[in-house]
Amino acid sequence: MHIDLSGRRALVTGSTRGIGQSIATALAGCGAEVAVVGRSKEAADAVASAIPRAKGFQCDVSVPADVERLVADVEAALGGVDCLVNNAGITRDNLLIRLKDEDWNAVIDANLRSAFLTTRAASRGMMKRRWGRIVNISSVVGLMGNKGQTNYAASKAGLIGLSKSVARELGPRNILCNVVAPGFIETDMTNAMTEEARAALVKNIPLERLGAAADVAGAVAWLCSDLAAYVTGQVIVVDGGLAA
Ligand code: NDP
Repeated sequence: MHIDLSGRRALVTGSTRGIGQSIATALAGCGAEVAVVGRSKEAADAVASAIPRAKGFQCDVSVPADVERLVADVEAALGGVDCLVNNAGITRDNLLIRLKDEDWNAVIDANLRSAFLTTRAASRGMMKRRWGRIVNISSVVGLMGNKGQTNYAASKAGLIGLSKSVARELGPRNILCNVVAPGFIETDMTNAMTEEARAALVKNIPLERLGAAADVAGAVAWLCSDLAAYVTGQVIVVDGGLAA
C-alpha cells in the first residue's frame, strides 16, 4: 500500500517556500502534476523547475481577481484541479489592544478569505468530475488560541469551520475537505524566534523538537490520496504532541 497520486492535478498556494514547497514536492513525488503558486511568477517558476511535473503560477491570494484568474489558468494548463491545498498564510502579530484594523484585515484576507475564494472557484470543476480533495492548512493556534495572535488564530479557526461546512456540502459529490493543523514547524515563519523562546517551546512538545515541513506534507499527501477516501471534515493535528 502506498500513496499514489498519478493522474491527479494539484494546486498548492504559497508553495514557493516552507511548508507549501514541501507539500508541492511531496505531491509530485507521489505522481501528481503540481501547480506551484507564489506572489512572484519568477519565484514560482524557480521552485517548479526543481520539481517533476510542476509548473509555476503567479497569484496574490489576498486579491480576489488574482484567485479567479489563478484557478482558470491552472485548469487551462493542467486540464483541471483535483487536489486543492490552501497553504498560503501570513502573520501580523500584536497584542489585542494594539492590533490595527489593517493587520486584522490583512491576515483574514490572506489566510481565510483566500480559501473561500479558491474553494468556490476550484470546486466547480471538481463537482463536474465528481472527485476532489481540499486540504486547508490551519494551525494548532486555531485550536488553542495564542497571546498576540487574535487575528491569526481567528483566521485559522475560521478555516476549520469553513472546511467542516464544505465537507458537508460537497461530500455528496465525492469532494472531501479536511484540515491539517501544524504545530511549530521550522520555516521562515518560525525562524524569527529567539533561542530562549524556542527552548521554552520545545519543553512543551512531547517529541522534543520543532516539526519539519515534510512532517506536514506527509499528512497532506495522505489526505489527497485514495487511502483517505472515507475521511472528510477532520482536523489532523501535526504538532509533535503539543496540543495533545
Ligand atoms: P512561510 O512564511 O515560510 O511561507 C509562506 C508562503 O505563503 C510563501 O510561499 C509565501 O509566498 C506565501 N504567501 C504569503 N502570503 C501570500 C499571498 N498573499 N499570496 C500568495 N502567497 C502568499 O510560511 P510557512 O511555510 O511556515 O507556513 C505555511 C502555512 O502553514 C501558513 O498558512 C501558516 O500559517 C501555516 N502554519 C505554519 C506553521 C509554522 O510553524 N511554520 C505552524 C502552523 C501553521 P511568497 O514567497 O510570495 O512570500
